Amino acid sequence: MKKDIVDLQDKLQALLLIQQDNYTQGKVADYIPALANVKPDLVGISVATIDGKVVGAGEYQRSFSIQSISKVFGLVMAMNRIGDSLWQRVRMEPSGQPFNSIIQLEWEKGIPRNPVINAGAILVSDVLTSHFSASKLAFITFVRKLAGNDNIRVDNDVYQSELTHGNGNAALAYLMKSFGNIEAEIPEVLSHYFTQCSIAMSCQQLAKSLLFLANKGVDPITQKTICTARDAHRVNAILSTSGMYDQSGEFAFSVGLPAKSGVGGGVIAVVPGYGVICTWSPPLNSFGNSVVGMNLVASVAEELGLSIYH
Ligand code: GLN
Repeated sequence: MKKDIVDLQDKLQALLLIQQDNYTQGKVADYIPALANVKPDLVGISVATIDGKVVGAGEYQRSFSIQSISKVFGLVMAMNRIGDSLWQRVRMEPSGQPFNSIIQLEWEKGIPRNPVINAGAILVSDVLTSHFSASKLAFITFVRKLAGNDNIRVDNDVYQSELTHGNGNAALAYLMKSFGNIEAEIPEVLSHYFTQCSIAMSCQQLAKSLLFLANKGVDPITQKTICTARDAHRVNAILSTSGMYDQSGEFAFSVGLPAKSGVGGGVIAVVPGYGVICTWSPPLNSFGNSVVGMNLVASVAEELGLSIYH
């Protein structure tokens, strides 16, 4: 492995330049209108390592809407809170469907395929809403602690935009409720879900905050246990098989890292035993994954020999 590359910062800068003209290959998400206002040519990359190094290039300190990357934090909180009973309400299989699909959910009687498609993350939001007296506060507090930054905020414009354009997500929630798989009141569950999706963070903060997944559940900076080693393994497994939605197979095939994307254009990739890569570029492909973000993760992984399948 070439993990000991001395000047990672320069390397990241060079990789960004190569992607310079690729922003036109995707389309910025506009089904949540507040996301459509983001400039398409902004791009950032950060790598945090478990030995405490954080480097970055481009707009790696600029906050963006983390969207579905929040599903990773929510999953860890729910696993910690209710343990293995979570897996009676949501499965751990790839869906083979778009992230917001409802079709499978009816066939499968309101049990979502996995916790990182929208149905699964809404289910997880129900767990958090039902098991924390103030789930939104608990969520943002968890994220702030992990990132070591108390200034991380929810973007209220994005939140309002999601709320007013969230009928598809509401349909998923009501369908699950009709099968008895949602406990709390739907408006409360959706409000939690949209809040966590609307958190704004930078590549640097995201990379740092997820280091525990690269370090068997222990935050390497504070030495605090965030989840068990078994659960860190499980989250990474789910991210490997489902984190890039219906492009997860291709991503495993060509890159080989547990990863999660969000429609804000962010991608995080966990490198067990090494660190976390986070990229940001708003234009998305048809699967809802950032085009340039995926290219960048792929090129860093290739340059540094990071695939878990080597
Ligand atoms: N908030 C978005 C939604 O519910 C999250 C989707 C995503 O980032 N893939 O549609």
